[in-house]
Amino acid sequence: MSELGIGTKCVQAGYTPENGGPRQIPIIQSTTFKYDTSEDMGKLFDLEASGYFYSRLQNPTCDHVAAKIAEMEGGTAGMLTSSGQAANLFAIFNICEAGDHIVASSSIYGGTYNLIKVTLAKMGIQSTFVSPDATEEELSAAFQENTKAMFGESIANPALTVLDIEKFARVAHAHGVPLIVDNTFPTPVNLRPIEWGADIVTHSTTKYMDGHGSAIGGAIIDSGRFDWMAHKEKFPGLTTPDESYHGIVYAEKFGKEGAFITKATSQLMRDLGCVQSPQSAFYLNLGLESLHVRMPRHVENGQAVAEFLESQELVTGVNYPGLKSSPYYEIAKKYMPNGGCGVVSFELAGGRATAEKFMKHLKIAAIETHVADARTCCLNPATSTHRQMNDEELIAAGVPAGLIRISCGLEDKEDLIADLKQALEACR
Ligand SMILES: *Cc1c(COP(=O)(O)O)cnc(C)c1O
Repeated sequence: MSELGIGTKCVQAGYTPENGGPRQIPIIQSTTFKYDTSEDMGKLFDLEASGYFYSRLQNPTCDHVAAKIAEMEGGTAGMLTSSGQAANLFAIFNICEAGDHIVASSSIYGGTYNLIKVTLAKMGIQSTFVSPDATEEELSAAFQENTKAMFGESIANPALTVLDIEKFARVAHAHGVPLIVDNTFPTPVNLRPIEWGADIVTHSTTKYMDGHGSAIGGAIIDSGRFDWMAHKEKFPGLTTPDESYHGIVYAEKFGKEGAFITKATSQLMRDLGCVQSPQSAFYLNLGLESLHVRMPRHVENGQAVAEFLESQELVTGVNYPGLKSSPYYEIAKKYMPNGGCGVVSFELAGGRATAEKFMKHLKIAAIETHVADARTCCLNPATSTHRQMNDEELIAAGVPAGLIRISCGLEDKEDLIADLKQALEACR
């Protein structure tokens, strides 16, 4: 359905009912699948035929939803994972092994930073972090002989920096490695990284895609464009026989379009098991059906709140790529002409004491460790996620004590602004 618009794909892609079949994607809440002969089942195990045998590997509900997201992103194949964390782990670990190295943007989600910096290092995969604003020469200088992938976030959580995807893709491809882009914040409704050169796209579907705060989940989409065989010696996991699968060479048997997701499913999911439940996939699909209607409202509310905050005396700074004052305004306009997302961060004069007082007075915006669902919520990192740090450490980490992240939901913007206004007045 690639000729269709993004809205039609949100509603219809990934599932076509049979004559008389259920209109909605059925929840196949079954761990296992029945066959008449062991020969039938053997073909599935040998990857000679496609079909289902055990829901840790594949489940029809999850596959329909993954296929929808793949169409939305313009990729050739996709898979769901148990969380966004699992999606990024699988995307990197499907390419890299002990002894390898990756180059990653330093402006990324804290959980992903820890995954790359600490946990992947324990697994023998080293990393170098680069500024997303670095020049191509500076980015190139971070590459080593054993570098196997480059990683960044299209709009970073929570810093709200915007990735120059074309620049990162050029540098990655000049070094013969794929670019992985976490596209959680803009979603494919506002930005499709594959159109700008990204090779693999990941998601925390927990955020806007689900959009109702109902189910944790993740997704990985392959563009089908990276030529693993052209860099055969770099990617032995994809280009040499897999002993655990009767010597299958994924890049030969499944080609550029299918190798990456087939390996991630039949090898990583088989062995690590970070699977999404069919029930969660069903909730995710309900969210996807209205994603193209919800994203413009999140953007409208984010823009209105950012502009309001910028006009307030007590607010010393606002980060939102849709503001003309943002250093990312031009680049955001290029990649996201319809806007990015509804998350805004801003700093209050008076540090954590004012931030705490301000948040106590909010009536609509709730204090939560979450972003990107229908209800507006906010967080002061200094008194929550980063509370072990002192003021100097907070500044070094880019989250000054008075910084508040607000995720604008789907309420009326006039009400959100009135709520912020009365809380600011209470802090005078
Ligand atoms: C939340 C988030 C993740 C992690 O996703 P979970 O579903 O919470 O595991 C990864 N990347 C980004 C950009 C996120 O916002």
